[in-house]
Amino acid sequence: MPGALRSRPVTIVGGGVAGLTAAIALRQRGADVTVLERAPAITEVGAGLQLSPNATRVLDALGLLPALDAVSLPSQAVRLRDASGADVVRLDLARHRPQARFRLIHRARLIEILEHAARQAGAQITLGQAVETPPDGTLVIGADGLHSRIRTALNGREVPFFTGQTAWRAAIADDAAEAPEAQVFMGPGRHLVSYPLAGGFRNIVAVLETRDWQDEGWSRPDDPANLRAAFARFGGPVPSWLAQVDQTHVWGLFRHEVAARWQDGRMAILGDAAHPTLPFMAQGACMAIEDAWTLAACLDDTPDQQAALLRYETLRKPRATRIVGAANDNARNYHLTGPKRLAAHAALRIGGKVAPGAILSRFDWIYDFDPVTETP
Ligand SMILES: Cc1cc2nc3c(=O)[nH]c(=O)nc-3n(C[C@H](O)[C@H](O)[C@H](O)COP(=O)(O)OP(=O)(O)OC[C@H]3O[C@@H](n4cnc5c(N)ncnc54)[C@H](O)[C@@H]3O)c2cc1C
Repeated sequence: MPGALRSRPVTIVGGGVAGLTAAIALRQRGADVTVLERAPAITEVGAGLQLSPNATRVLDALGLLPALDAVSLPSQAVRLRDASGADVVRLDLARHRPQARFRLIHRARLIEILEHAARQAGAQITLGQAVETPPDGTLVIGADGLHSRIRTALNGREVPFFTGQTAWRAAIADDAAEAPEAQVFMGPGRHLVSYPLAGGFRNIVAVLETRDWQDEGWSRPDDPANLRAAFARFGGPVPSWLAQVDQTHVWGLFRHEVAARWQDGRMAILGDAAHPTLPFMAQGACMAIEDAWTLAACLDDTPDQQAALLRYETLRKPRATRIVGAANDNARNYHLTGPKRLAAHAALRIGGKVAPGAILSRFDWIYDFDPVTETP
């Protein structure tokens, strides 16, 4: 019988997408929630996020859909284009998935919605609290991201490896009122993803294969000239977008294994703390949101905390592992060169004409998944 969370104290380390969504889900089921966040204020970098229906179903169940709709754009399509700008295939989400909620949102807007809802639900959020070792408490949730202390406490030290890819992110003003769709421009050894955001912005992420080592952090500023030089041969709207970039950040993409151990009966991890992913399926935040729901549902379902956390790990690990694997594969698919690239793009073009719905169906297992009905 659900209800096992009522008045149970829970400490969450980290107030990002995972920690704040977990705070809302746990608090709505009656837990006594404290969030410890390292930053002095809840802020987010100026970048965008694509949210797919597997995540928006959870946000709906948490009562956040009206707030989400007010500050996001419905994503109508994913458009794959060659580096020249020529269309390869346009996956029409509005036509083939009319009921599904795909959204484009500024990260800062999502965090604002989550923080507001968590506080309104009664979660205590303590800022400026950098947690170095797992805090005391009978239930500790590690939502402390890529370099999670709680993950280290559960799994020991692990060393990620550089994938040989660097990424730039940038946002530009964009009032072009184009259709809200995510565009992916694919060139040899590089690709660029861009989509509009509510409020007249456009998000840009550009990935380049390189031998140069880069930091893993998100916040190293770079000269926009480097971004323009790396994508100088790209056509379509790319040159005019990149001409407008006056600030950009660069970072190295590292591969981390999905954590071997997600919980020990007292502590559990979720989001990037458990399964950092390359950004090529746009699922990192979506998985964090799914995790948060499932974790709360499992804990509420049974007073036996060890059994509940084990069930959470058993339900979540295979799916997270599969999605992380799909993101790794996509990096290769976007960056093909020579005859392989021509063949792959031709196959996509034909597939897009003959059976466009079928190309999208390859990802049904990601987007059709409903964490809410799987773990009510
Ligand atoms: C370029 C790029 C594009 C992306 N695009 C998408 C997308 O389109 N769709 C999508 O779903 N995902 C996307 N992602 C992934 C997504 O951003 C992450 O997976 C998601 O933010 C993970 O959330 P999190 O809460 O687990 O971690 P984080 O967002 O990193 O939050 C962790 C929080 O914990 C805090 N913290 C860390 N250490 C401590 C400590 N010791 N003590 C206290 N607090 C601590 C941090 O300050 C932070 O607030 C993208 C990622 C990148 C890099």
